[in-house]
Amino acid sequence: MLANKTAVVTGSTSGIGLAIAKAMAREGANIVINGFGDAGAIEKERSGIEREFGVKCVYSGADMTKPDEISAMIADAEKEFGAVDVLVNNAGIQHVSPIDEFPVEKWDQIIAINLSSSFHTIRAALPGMKRKGWGRIINTASAHALVASPFKSAYVAAKHGIAGLTKTVALEVAQQKITVNAICPGYVWTPLVEAQIPDTMKARNMTEEQVKRDVLLAAQPTKEFVTVDQVAAMAIFLCSNAASSITGTMLQMDGGWTAQ
Ligand code: NAD
Repeated sequence: MLANKTAVVTGSTSGIGLAIAKAMAREGANIVINGFGDAGAIEKERSGIEREFGVKCVYSGADMTKPDEISAMIADAEKEFGAVDVLVNNAGIQHVSPIDEFPVEKWDQIIAINLSSSFHTIRAALPGMKRKGWGRIINTASAHALVASPFKSAYVAAKHGIAGLTKTVALEVAQQKITVNAICPGYVWTPLVEAQIPDTMKARNMTEEQVKRDVLLAAQPTKEFVTVDQVAAMAIFLCSNAASSITGTMLQMDGGWTAQ
């Protein structure tokens, strides 16, 4: 479905982004992966995507807190592949703390990575999509784009910001065959979630199982984690012609969390 197209997926060295990058490659897209991590492990993923799916895959180490690096990543992708047809804004980090103890630099970092980077990527990629008369922008938001949880002020603020950005850009390009949507997962089993477990076990004096069931999945009625492959499948659907009337939406994949 995505043969001769190019997808840039931010934050795709791990978790949801990596699953989306692989799913897009499976559909025939050339891929730009991005994110941090061990250089050898990233190269293994990059070359693995090329080998497994027969597409081209390049790695950009652009730091999503740095606007210049972000615009260079999009420009390099356009130079390498001719266009950016699909842009997936997925990079994100978390920090959990009461707001009066929230480190100022963590607030700034979360707003930069989880919100402002999407402004910079969209700003850079949209002119190319308009020229081609086709594009798909998919933002990995969160249930936290729609509802809040305590101690996650920066994350919730950034994700609510992504909801507003998604709707605004969708309206701006509504007549140019470019759709802009946000996927809003509940808890997905990824390294980002796994990393929250030890601190929560300590803070609440709980076992790992208790943290999973009574804290992480407390608000998720299905009591099951969303999988990265389910999120990737939604991203693929949004790229299809069948989804061309879906724009400006927040697509909840949260096991019923936000129905409550
Ligand atoms: P993850 O930690 O597995 O992956 C995050 C990715 O972002 C990694 O590739 C990392 O290297 C990259 N990244 C971090 N800082 C960066 C920076 N400054 N520049 C470039 N890349 C950077 O996390 P994940 O769970 O796969 O999360 C991916 C997205 O999904 C995030 O936006 C997150 O908020 C969102 N999300 C996750 C869940 C969940 O339960 N895991 C739920 C809802 C939404």
